[in-house]
Amino acid sequence: MRIALLPGDGIGKDIVKQAVKVLDAVGKKYNCVFEYKEALIGGEAIDKVGTPLPQETIDICKESDAVLLGAVGGPKWDNLAGNLRPEAGLLGIRKALGVYANLRPAIVFPQLKDASTLKEEVLKDGIEIMIVRELTGGLYFGEKKRVQTEEGQKAWDTMVYTEKEIDRISRMSFEIARKRNRKLTLVDKSNVLESSRLWREVFTNIAKDYTDVAVDYMYVDNAAMQLVRNPKQFDVILTENTFGDILSDEAAMLTGSLGMLPSASLGDGKVGLYEPIHGSAPDIAGQNKANPIATIMSVAMMLRYSFNMLDAADDIEKAIVTILDKGYRTLDIMQEGMTAVGTEEMGDLIAGEIK
Ligand code: NAD
Repeated sequence: MRIALLPGDGIGKDIVKQAVKVLDAVGKKYNCVFEYKEALIGGEAIDKVGTPLPQETIDICKESDAVLLGAVGGPKWDNLAGNLRPEAGLLGIRKALGVYANLRPAIVFPQLKDASTLKEEVLKDGIEIMIVRELTGGLYFGEKKRVQTEEGQKAWDTMVYTEKEIDRISRMSFEIARKRNRKLTLVDKSNVLESSRLWREVFTNIAKDYTDVAVDYMYVDNAAMQLVRNPKQFDVILTENTFGDILSDEAAMLTGSLGMLPSASLGDGKVGLYEPIHGSAPDIAGQNKANPIATIMSVAMMLRYSFNMLDAADDIEKAIVTILDKGYRTLDIMQEGMTAVGTEEMGDLIAGEIK
């Protein structure tokens, strides 16, 4: 299995290294070989070759079976023009790989529930929600314009979706729900938006092919409220791009820690893109302080969704729980009475549990 590694900037290098340790431990246990090829992206690519996404990086990713990305960006590159900034590399690689579904699990580990701002009774026994966000359509990609009128400027963005775009991501979400607790909630604003009404129609038709999955519909304003009121009611949430952008950040905050949250971006192509949701954390880069768990959990998603190695993915998640149970914490999730460890140690501890 060929994996492209794009560590990127800041803590990217620190955390990707730990994820590779864990993958190697999986390789040993399951007698398989992961072949890595490292490539440039983001600020480091700007410094070395003058562009945030070199063609060579695109080629290496396309020739791989999966891509693991660390993070991009940092103050050094903040004053560059939009298309030359490190983040352009991120949008560019998603586009080049044709990934249209962003999967973001929001997991509250019972061991870390104190890190959340929600009350203990809401989080009791942990939370595990999967948000599937459409990534390449809707408001962010529809026609946008600004004109001068007699009364001043006028601007608009357009939320556009085609049946095909809704169809493919709906089917993917049903398949994901089948691998989990078989409940799928479509979040939209179909009481107001025509595009949402199309989402509902297409989705409802597809649901007939998945009668083993319980379906539910919710307006986005209500979903925003329900996520903090009673998050346990959700299993998989499917929603369009803008709503998903907002709701997935809200769900992430249920967990209280950025350093624990992975993501996967998938399309019809064979290459999935896996990355932690946090940024490059320049304030702690290279200091052995970053929490590598989000990246290690991204690798568990890679094993599950790209390589269909479900047992190995479970092994990684269990190893993380075991290490948390034993009281080991990186600084961002440190609590009284626990043992503080650095990035390297956390990687070693988790890899050491996979045997
Ligand atoms: P950030 O996520 O990098 O950091 C926010 C805070 O969380 C910081 O205090 C940081 O130290 C902490 N943090 C983040 N990840 C952590 C981890 N794994 N372990 C411990 N602590 C962690 O967000 P920011 O500070 O807004 O952005 C910094 C840079 O990252 C910017 O250049 C931004 O554009 C970029 N960024 C990149 C991505 C990405 O690559 N996907 C996402 C968001 C931001």
